Amino acid sequence: MSFPSGITAPPPRRHPEKARRPDNPIPRKPDWLRVKAPGSPEYQATRRLMREHALNTVCEEAGCPNIGECWKQKHATVMILGRVCTRACTFCNVATGRPDLLDPHEPRRVAEAVAALGLSHVVVTSVDRDDLGDGGAAHFARTIIAIRCAAPGTTIEVLTPDFLHKESALETVVDAKPDVFNHNLETVPRLYAEVRPGARYFHSLRVLDQVKRLDPTMFTKSGIMVGLGEDKTEVLQVMDDLRAADVDFLTIGQYLQPTIKHHAIARFVTPEEFRSYRSFALGKGFLLVSASPLTRSSYHAGEDFARLRAARAASLATVG
Ligand code: SF4
Repeated sequence: MSFPSGITAPPPRRHPEKARRPDNPIPRKPDWLRVKAPGSPEYQATRRLMREHALNTVCEEAGCPNIGECWKQKHATVMILGRVCTRACTFCNVATGRPDLLDPHEPRRVAEAVAALGLSHVVVTSVDRDDLGDGGAAHFARTIIAIRCAAPGTTIEVLTPDFLHKESALETVVDAKPDVFNHNLETVPRLYAEVRPGARYFHSLRVLDQVKRLDPTMFTKSGIMVGLGEDKTEVLQVMDDLRAADVDFLTIGQYLQPTIKHHAIARFVTPEEFRSYRSFALGKGFLLVSASPLTRSSYHAGEDFARLRAARAASLATVG
């Protein structure tokens, strides 16, 4: 799994595989992407709890710009299956290399932290684990089940890898019955070879399509970053592809370049353009669309899940 970022980090230790890439200077952020530095007491409390339970979060590993706001509200996205990814996406700040040993106690620790935080909704994601026979699917399922036991009132959203070449992995995760199944397309197909080497656009689309076929009641969700070099026609085509896979919820956010060795920011997409993308997407039939410069797949995920349920209920009422 790969994640966009908002900070500058030195490449060699986290990203030895990117050391030979050309330098891409990082442009200055426009005002609409500036956020307050984190530091509230609630932020510190969330941070302490994550440390106490020895959990990794994508909020920290990807250097997410929203961490101050989210952690203040005790909303963190837990990253399971270790901190080291087997892929090397050129937009992502999560470390690439030899992955950690699987920790069999991690599902229990995640569940305890979710219960301690008293979360109404939790997002669980992971690094890519191409080295594991099932890509980590059983670990996802164990984590979902452990959360259900420790915090039965909490709704669960998973943001999974593509499980490329991992037979039955999707079935394993879907059988554990998360409330939302998210898999990000990340970018338009033309940019896959550069931005997501190791992934396949149509395979990722198929993941989403298959989840809906396996359980038509499960909410499906996907997201892309813009500002990577795509054009508007390509973004609209991605929307059509996602609707053909019956995806319910689309997120679109600005790509931010973690270091000079990462994929260059092609441009900053303006807030007006995000509003226009949102209108197009709603017109194409998504139940919910979040499109703004700071949108990330898990940003405001709890509130959005409530909206998603309400939107489905309203749409079923209209049909009925
Ligand atoms: S947007 Fe998601 S990844 Fe970023 S801080 Fe919030 S919960 Fe964490």
